[in-house]
Amino acid sequence: MQALVWAGKNSVKMVTAKKPVVIEPRDVILKVTGSTVCGSDLHLLHGAIVEMKKGDILGHEFCGVIDSMGADAGRTGLNKGDRVVASFQIACGDCYYCKQKLSSQCEKTNANTLEDAMYGGRTAGMFGYSHFTGGFAGGQAEYVRVPCGDVNLLKLPDDVPDEKGLYLSDVIATSWNCVVDTGVKEGDTVAIWGAGPIGQMCVDFSFMNGAKRVIVIDSNWRLDYIKERHPKTELIDFKNLPKGTSVVRRLKEMCDGRGPDVALECVAGEYTKGWAHWFEMQMGLETDTSEIVNEMIESVKNYGRCGITGVYAGYTNHFNIGSLMERGIRLIGNGQAPVHLYWEKLLKMIQDGSIDPLKMVSHRVDISQMDQVYYKFEKKEDGMQKVFVQT
Ligand code: NAD
Ligand code: ZN
Ligand code: ZN
Repeated sequence: MQALVWAGKNSVKMVTAKKPVVIEPRDVILKVTGSTVCGSDLHLLHGAIVEMKKGDILGHEFCGVIDSMGADAGRTGLNKGDRVVASFQIACGDCYYCKQKLSSQCEKTNANTLEDAMYGGRTAGMFGYSHFTGGFAGGQAEYVRVPCGDVNLLKLPDDVPDEKGLYLSDVIATSWNCVVDTGVKEGDTVAIWGAGPIGQMCVDFSFMNGAKRVIVIDSNWRLDYIKERHPKTELIDFKNLPKGTSVVRRLKEMCDGRGPDVALECVAGEYTKGWAHWFEMQMGLETDTSEIVNEMIESVKNYGRCGITGVYAGYTNHFNIGSLMERGIRLIGNGQAPVHLYWEKLLKMIQDGSIDPLKMVSHRVDISQMDQVYYKFEKKEDGMQKVFVQT
């Protein structure tokens, strides 16, 4: 089968790989019909996660048709031939966290030691996301093995085509989690850092949850895109600020001198070293806090809420704990989104038209072009947003 593999720092390539087979009774082998590249894949591309091995198949957002199943995989009603979407996390469905549908914290698929989990923030197993998250092969391939397929797959109804259902894997659930977990409510002014697919969906979900104003911070054509698709949104171009001003100052000016009620971090990887923080900490080094986190703390109004969805790991210095403490700022780590908690509700929203995932899809390509998609998505070239990769 064709598959996209990690081929070293800044390099991915298409290869011919072996088709996976059922190993455990709850396994499902999925014939992938659609997949995509996520901002989180760029952390892998950049080699920020050292537990990558050359030849690892990437991809954690995918949908497909059930090709074969282990003896126990049908216990929740799945059958061969069903059209389904996979969650990006691999959850067991039975542990302390899974019983609460907090699947991103699954204790059984988390292959890490207690120390790793406490200090490094490692969570549940993930598809195509290095040996750091269990070493499971990903879905940027023609076939993928889905462990605990009975709980990690959601049936797609006939009125939800792959192009819409695919994004329940990650981006839609992640953005919803970011907005509701940070507590966006009626009348709020929400500032969002990052206008990638995650930030874009957060714009819609913020308005849907009652936000009065949404301000997006990014640069270049990503802001043009927001302007065109989300005309009610206000914009700050962080690369083109008037002399003598800053993102924080601009936000204060735009919000009666007090600042927004809520700040959402939808960037991380591009701006920080992402997971590399964890390894630096292991080596006794500490890295600088992302400026964005300090911008959020400093710009929100007193008792404002800041949610972090962009990926971070490990310890950092130069964190403005003074402003956080004195002004009563609520800083919330949104975690890897617990997809299972939300995906049925979000599927209904796609069905009744209250959300349209196609809005963020800019390209449709064939799986054979997946490597090129990575490089374009990384450089934000060619107006590339979310891509539907037909398989
Ligand atoms: P993306 O790379 O498409 O978008 C990131 C955007 O941030 C870009 O448009 C970039 O121009 C902008 N940006 C860079 N520096 C900035 C700054 N200083 N201020 C404002 N904007 C800045 O990525 P995406 O797919 O939208 O994902 C965004 C983040 O969410 C990534 O870090 C990804 O790893 C993370 N993520 C988290 C989860 C989760 O469950 N927590 C799931 C998926 C993705
Ligand atoms: Zn992702
Ligand atoms: Zn579990």
